Amino acid sequence: MTERYSRQERFTPIGPGGQAQLANKHVFIVGAGALGCANAEMLTRAGVGKITIIDRDYIEWSNLGRQQLYTENDAASLKTKASAAEQRLRAMNSEIKVQGIAQEFEAETAEALVDGADFLIDGTDNFQTRFVINDVAAKIKVPWVYGGCLKSYGIVLPIVPGTTPCLHCLIDHLPQEGSTCDTVGIIGPAVQMTAAYQSAECLKFLTGHSMTVEMVYADVWGREYSSINISGLLNPECPSCSRDAVFPYLKKEKGLKTAMLCGRNTVQVRPDQLSTLSLSDLSSHLENVTDRMKENAELLMFHVEDVRFVVFKDGRTLIHGTENVEEAKKLYQKYIGA
Ligand SMILES: [Zn+2]
Repeated sequence: MTERYSRQERFTPIGPGGQAQLANKHVFIVGAGALGCANAEMLTRAGVGKITIIDRDYIEWSNLGRQQLYTENDAASLKTKASAAEQRLRAMNSEIKVQGIAQEFEAETAEALVDGADFLIDGTDNFQTRFVINDVAAKIKVPWVYGGCLKSYGIVLPIVPGTTPCLHCLIDHLPQEGSTCDTVGIIGPAVQMTAAYQSAECLKFLTGHSMTVEMVYADVWGREYSSINISGLLNPECPSCSRDAVFPYLKKEKGLKTAMLCGRNTVQVRPDQLSTLSLSDLSSHLENVTDRMKENAELLMFHVEDVRFVVFKDGRTLIHGTENVEEAKKLYQKYIGA
């Protein structure tokens, strides 16, 4: 196996010394969509000693166009992204540890989940989760790299808590939400380019180099590139990264929690306390209300009242076919109970 990393070791800034450092590092990737998959594959093949990848979703056919760790078989069998990613990454490199976690990355559990990580990678598609990453990274003082891509462009920003501006410092300078990959589309090359900048910064940091803490904007189709110095935007009173930080995005919520999913006409509903649900009990209760049900070891899918439910073992549920949060809560209470 000594040949495995030989080309990377010949790259002088890494060398055999950097390669040995990588073997002792733990990278935590939030999101196993397009960016998460691409970063995970590069870092797995690069020999990072431990990779954890967390994702709340299951694989759909529309993912196969650019989410490189998944196959048609995964989509047909409704596999969670976390379990399919873990399986695929292990097959690529058996010398490292890989763990996939089929959960949401959220305020309640974030700090415990990232315990021991050396670096965090943003593979999400929403600012709600990115602010949780930002706060937890600031709290445990671990660097991370923001990544976002849409259409043919990508934006990448490395963040070193306490040294560079954090996402919260930049809150008024961030791109506005409103267009998503589901509404304006995206091409695979934009994903690969964005992930490449993220993974390169990660490899720099893990092998003892300084990251280039500038915001990169690049368009792979229009051939545009700019790197923007944002060091003057550090807010000395930032609620997330200053000395008096209160980490507002790590505050816990009470009651049924809801979240709209990135332009997908879908609401996620989850109970206050996650617990293990018996999917087979649930499916037998539902036999009277629907005859369109599909089940595997990880989730139960059924159609009812013009919406499609996907219920995970921990009670977390995706309701496809609505963007109305109140309606989604009512449907959840009616069919799953709370
Ligand atoms: Zn800040």
